[in-house]
Amino acid sequence: MNNIFSRNFLIFVIILVSISSFISFSLISGEKTLASSGDLLLHTYDVIFEAEELSTKVESMLASQRGYVLTQKEEFYETYETRKSSISENIVRLFDLTIDNPSQQARLAELQDYYVELANKLDDRASRATGEVPNPVISNDVQNIDTLKNNIIRINMDILGEEYELLNQRINTMEQKKSQYFTSLLIGVAVGTILLLIFNAFLLRAQQKRNYAEESLKGIEERLSLAIEGTQDGIFDWNVSNETVFYSRQFFAMLGYDKGPLTGTPNDSWELVHPEDFEELSAKIELYLSHELSEFVHEYRMKHKSGRWVWVQSRAKAIYDRSGHAIRMVGAHTDITSIVKERERLEIEKEEAEEANKAKGEFLAHMSHEIRTPLTAISGISEILGKQIQKFDDKQAQLIKTLGSSTASLKELINDILDFSKIEKGEVEIDERVFSLETVFQETISMMAVRANEKGISFVFDYSALEDSNFYGDSKRLRQILVNLIGNAIKFTDKGGVTIKADIEDRNGMDFLRIDVSDTGIGISPDDFDLVFEKFKQADSSVSRKYGGTGLGLPISKNLARIMGGDIFVSSQLGKGSSFSLLLPAKINKGKKELPRDVQSMQKLNDKIRSNLTDENKVLIAEDYEGNIVVVTYILEEIGLEYDIAYNGQEAVNLWQEKHYDMILMDVQMPEMDGFTATKEIRKLEERDNLDATPIIGMTAHALIGDKDKCVAAGMDSYLPKPLVEADLKREILKFLKNKDRKVA
Ligand code: ADP
Repeated sequence: MNNIFSRNFLIFVIILVSISSFISFSLISGEKTLASSGDLLLHTYDVIFEAEELSTKVESMLASQRGYVLTQKEEFYETYETRKSSISENIVRLFDLTIDNPSQQARLAELQDYYVELANKLDDRASRATGEVPNPVISNDVQNIDTLKNNIIRINMDILGEEYELLNQRINTMEQKKSQYFTSLLIGVAVGTILLLIFNAFLLRAQQKRNYAEESLKGIEERLSLAIEGTQDGIFDWNVSNETVFYSRQFFAMLGYDKGPLTGTPNDSWELVHPEDFEELSAKIELYLSHELSEFVHEYRMKHKSGRWVWVQSRAKAIYDRSGHAIRMVGAHTDITSIVKERERLEIEKEEAEEANKAKGEFLAHMSHEIRTPLTAISGISEILGKQIQKFDDKQAQLIKTLGSSTASLKELINDILDFSKIEKGEVEIDERVFSLETVFQETISMMAVRANEKGISFVFDYSALEDSNFYGDSKRLRQILVNLIGNAIKFTDKGGVTIKADIEDRNGMDFLRIDVSDTGIGISPDDFDLVFEKFKQADSSVSRKYGGTGLGLPISKNLARIMGGDIFVSSQLGKGSSFSLLLPAKINKGKKELPRDVQSMQKLNDKIRSNLTDENKVLIAEDYEGNIVVVTYILEEIGLEYDIAYNGQEAVNLWQEKHYDMILMDVQMPEMDGFTATKEIRKLEERDNLDATPIIGMTAHALIGDKDKCVAAGMDSYLPKPLVEADLKREILKFLKNKDRKVA
């Protein structure tokens, strides 16, 4: 802007100077021309004057000569002589004056000749004036003299005629030059005036612009200083090159000083920085100025005038020169003491909440143990009774069935609560391995089809597209989700039925296992689609009254699906039915029938165990709770496995030392010595005596994430959560019977 302005001004000055030089030149040269024309005019006047004087003098000379001739008076003769010489001078001057004019020179020469002749004649007549002169001579003289005089006068008139003509010409030229001179003078003055006016206007505009710029600058400055004053932030502007810093009034005011806005040095503020924070602050500034940090935001303490520490947050932006060196760093300081205090308070509260949550978790684990331990016994006993149902009369059989279903619901509820607490704590373990989808589907069908049958509704599970497919994932969690979705579908459907379809779906180039569980039940209003996935929420309060339930199944399922990289979606119409779609990323292998997991039915499993047994095989049960002892011993008896019972850890160690069992089923919580300690003792003894490691399977009702680690850390080989699942226990037994020849790790 400034550059354009000065360039325009320069151009304007050049034009102005050129035009005024041109005008001055024309004026000076015009004046010169006028002056020379004036000289010429004067010259012509001189010639005319001389010529006219010549004629007058000739007449006068003739008159005085005539007077003398007639009177003989000397005074006439003197006059005559004076005139004569004067005329000669006249002629000489005329020669001089017309030296550049050949025609006038020629005339003058002729005139001079006549004049010489005339003078001679007159002299002659004067000399004869005293004697008697005959008349004819006199009359002859007069004639001659007149002729000569006339010739002189004529020639002189010619000279005068030319000079008058010249005079006229020169007067005209002079007039022209004069008018040219005045015209250029006028033009010059006009152009000069216009240029001056333009220049003035230009200056005026420039001045106006400058005034406007100054005004707006002033406005900006005013606003800026108002903003700086008005804000609670302290502003600083650090000139890195000359190490000066501008501090706004608020900068020091927030630290209790009344320094006003000032320009000082970085030291003014640095000396107030907390010694513990100084190093980090200067390191951060250095990193930022050397472009290693994209932004500068830092929190540190500064000393208040009163001695207390103020937490400030400093935010700044640097301005760099072309070579990338910082030249300025401008920023703001905010007092964040209250925010930091609040943050600290929240941190403490969070820690307290986490503590409380941990305590809640521990309470939950403890409580679940307390409930699960008797529950194991109840469910085990109800299973045992269920197997012998034909021995009882109808009434007793009904009671046993009710006992079984109530135990199952209670187990489900406790598992749900535990599951949810694990999800909330982020402690869900996903146990991924290859498994057969068909097996999981079959297991689910055998569990759920009975329920559908009991309700008299149809049940179709179509997995034909995935019959030979293996899947990589957590089979237990997949089964849990399916049981939940299908359980709900059956629960909320009174007529029609439930259809399940499993297939692979391509979503944006990725394979997903998609399982749609559809029913013709009561349906869900679209307004409740989100609600049903919230914990402890049910679509309709009348639902819980009529159908029971806790509102935990769907949130658990959705969370599990998400943890496994998938999701669950619902579509439904009130009164017509619902469809829940489970989507899981498919790590699937079609056509592989060989399975890593046992898929045998319980019967097959029993046979397998028996075929691996010898008469010498013996198991030690370490368990203090009678209910569990009943269940476990029943299972062992069923497969024909010998056992001893220890009622606490110490007894277990003693019995093991005596008999060396093939396997120990070790409860972790026992009086006197717990299962962890007993296991550690046994491992120590094995090592000392260089014995084979006895397989030890931990049994715990805690079922929380740390338990498995604790069991492994104590030296156990495996771990079974309570309530014990018969099939799981049998699988573990089979595994260790097959794999007997091991050393302690
Ligand atoms: P619960 O079934 O124990 O109440 P869920 O979390 O499994 O808890 O389900 C929450 C709610 O979602 C149910 O109470 C019910 O209102 C609704 N819901 C779930 N599945 C269905 C279904 N198939 N048909 C109709 N409503 C359903």
